[in-house]
Amino acid sequence: MDIKKLNLANLPTKIEKMPRTSARLGRCIYLKRDDQTGSELNGNKIRKLEYAIYQALEQGADTLITCGGVQSNHCRATVAAGVKLGLKTILYLRSAERQAVEGNYFLDEMLGAQVRFITPEDYAYHREEIMKAAAGKLEKEGRKAYLIPEGASNGIGTLGYYEAFQEILAQEKEMGLDFDTIVCAVGSAGTYGGLHFANVLGKHGKKVIGVPIAADSEHFAQRTLEIWEEFSKLIGSEEALKTEDMLLLDGYVGRGYALNTPEEMDFLLEISRSEGVIFDSVYTGKAFRGLVDAMENDHGFFKGSKNILFIHTGGLFGLFSKKFEFDFSK
Ligand SMILES: *Cc1c(COP(=O)(O)O)cnc(C)c1O
Repeated sequence: MDIKKLNLANLPTKIEKMPRTSARLGRCIYLKRDDQTGSELNGNKIRKLEYAIYQALEQGADTLITCGGVQSNHCRATVAAGVKLGLKTILYLRSAERQAVEGNYFLDEMLGAQVRFITPEDYAYHREEIMKAAAGKLEKEGRKAYLIPEGASNGIGTLGYYEAFQEILAQEKEMGLDFDTIVCAVGSAGTYGGLHFANVLGKHGKKVIGVPIAADSEHFAQRTLEIWEEFSKLIGSEEALKTEDMLLLDGYVGRGYALNTPEEMDFLLEISRSEGVIFDSVYTGKAFRGLVDAMENDHGFFKGSKNILFIHTGGLFGLFSKKFEFDFSK
């Protein structure tokens, strides 16, 4: 496979053990610090964007158009990467009203994104056509836009986590370790898809477990399969993937996307105060809470798992907009 990419992220990202959590669970829990892929660029999205934006430049684009929630890490990383490369960025952020300039949205403004708010309904049903219309308008002005879907979770973007899997294999050799289980949050399924595809195609026999943080496993299994349709064409694979082979751990969506319960916020405090690691409330906090809960309750997915690698996919900036939801008195 020879698909080129940009070199924007700080790679390889570190792998470190979580001593207190490992002792608590009686297994070895490691973190892959993809929250340290960069500062403005931090998080998992930059791995996908390295591939997507390479293609944008190859096609002669001068503008990136993408979309996400108001606190989208993906949107912020896209603008940051765009500015570095001399590209303009238009963001469609999902919100019924104008939002306080905070967290990722604050950084979007700092980085000079053209921010356009669209209603949750338009976002759900019309975002593709809205983005295409914006691209068409630019084209009439002699410019060229490149569209990146939500989370950059399409065929090309997913190569970022296919490659991250190879990075993990190299680190295992270096560290003299074998991660039998890899766990990540699932928001638009590109991260999970990339890791799962690499595991299956390379016949590595690991358990790759995704924890959905919006919608259920059925939805995301289907979504992963759709990404596979694109991805397999890109890499020229004839393999038929089945949704039954995907390990997606249900039960940790809570109140819904980007919404939290007091228990979830308490869990974030517990981890930050015992490990010195800050998870975000939208993705990594929910997913890691799922991992701990499932292990403590002997969920079958983790049967026999000894060395578990959790991908810390980032999200710190978004947490700042959640500061009033914590109870620090505990
Ligand atoms: C987007 C995101 C995820 C989810 O990754 P997907 O590839 O969209 O499933 C997880 N963690 C953070 C911090 C994210 O920003």
